[in-house]
Amino acid sequence: MFNHPDFDGHEGVHVFSDAGSGLQAVIAVHNTARGPAAGGTRLWSYADPNDAVTDALRLSKAMSYKNAMAGLSLGGGKAVILRPNTNFDRIALFEAYGRAVESVGGKYITAEDVGVSPDDMRIIKTQTDFVAGLDDGPAASGDPSPVTAEGVFRSIKVAVRHKMRRGSLEGLRVAVQGLGHVGYGLCKHLHAAGVHLIVTDINQAVLEQAKTELGAEIVEPDVIHAAQVDVYAPCALGGAISKTTLPDLKASIIAGAANNQLATPDMGEACRQRGILYAPDYVVNAGGIINVAAEVSGIYDSNWVRTKLDDLEITLETIFDMALNQDLPTNIVADNLARQRLQNPD
Ligand code: NAD
Repeated sequence: MFNHPDFDGHEGVHVFSDAGSGLQAVIAVHNTARGPAAGGTRLWSYADPNDAVTDALRLSKAMSYKNAMAGLSLGGGKAVILRPNTNFDRIALFEAYGRAVESVGGKYITAEDVGVSPDDMRIIKTQTDFVAGLDDGPAASGDPSPVTAEGVFRSIKVAVRHKMRRGSLEGLRVAVQGLGHVGYGLCKHLHAAGVHLIVTDINQAVLEQAKTELGAEIVEPDVIHAAQVDVYAPCALGGAISKTTLPDLKASIIAGAANNQLATPDMGEACRQRGILYAPDYVVNAGGIINVAAEVSGIYDSNWVRTKLDDLEITLETIFDMALNQDLPTNIVADNLARQRLQNPD
């Protein structure tokens, strides 16, 4: 583990298995300098269990950076549950997972990520208090996805203002990869702002819905990155921007919800060289964790959430300006700022 390329000084990497429920999970706690590590739990089928460990490590480090950049009093952590290959009892699985979270003793607070819903959070809550993203209870914040979608939408506006010198999105073309909880919500905002949508997903039903409800144009998943658009918004899984996809990009802006959009960090410089403005993913998609932080504080205050989203816009503008002035790619500028904030927690 200490030699793992993504270890990056993690404070703790916890591995769990529970024969009764079939649970196999990894909870990674990257950094708690700013507060307890908070980040979602992902339920996913991994071809190789080592991929699950790598995913947890990369995602938890990104949470440290994300929470620091969003100015939250939270550290960074993330968990993955390896989806059992056979039929499984979801309640038993999430109960066992809740016990795993409890055993970390409050250093890690969980919420939803891909494949996990507020219903699952309710099951976890039966075993531990270190859970947020609940849809009932005194400070419940519910599904974080709508706030994430709002943050991505605001980020696209900031990027368009910076790159295209336009104050409005009216008439622009935006490609959205993945119409899940966040992607679909983002599409609704974009549609309301007068954007022409080009979308893809592996779920046909949601594509039909986007076509009927939002007039979206549908393309196959393997060509979405090459669509003739102004903005590309990856909202499925990581690695959307790679050596293979980048040469085909027509968009001048990349801003989406997915975590770890750059397949490798050097893709940031590759974007810059091509004149593509990359809005760093963990800054753009912080809306959900901002919403979760409101719940963790014990009092859900929607005004506080809105203020943090305003701050997110300012942070993104600062990154774009610094990148321009320092001749650096935006991902490097964001990483430098995040590391400063981790070393000097406010
Ligand atoms: P989700 O599971 O609801 O949606 C993902 C969507 O992507 C699904 O509709 C799925 O069918 C689709 N998809 C999967 N593989 C695809 C492919 N190859 N091509 C096209 N579509 C594909 O997840 P979500 O909550 O909407 O999150 C989306 C992304 O945003 C994830 O990377 C997640 O980590 C990140 N994120 C989510 C939140 C949040 O609040 N939910 C917060 C921060 C970051």
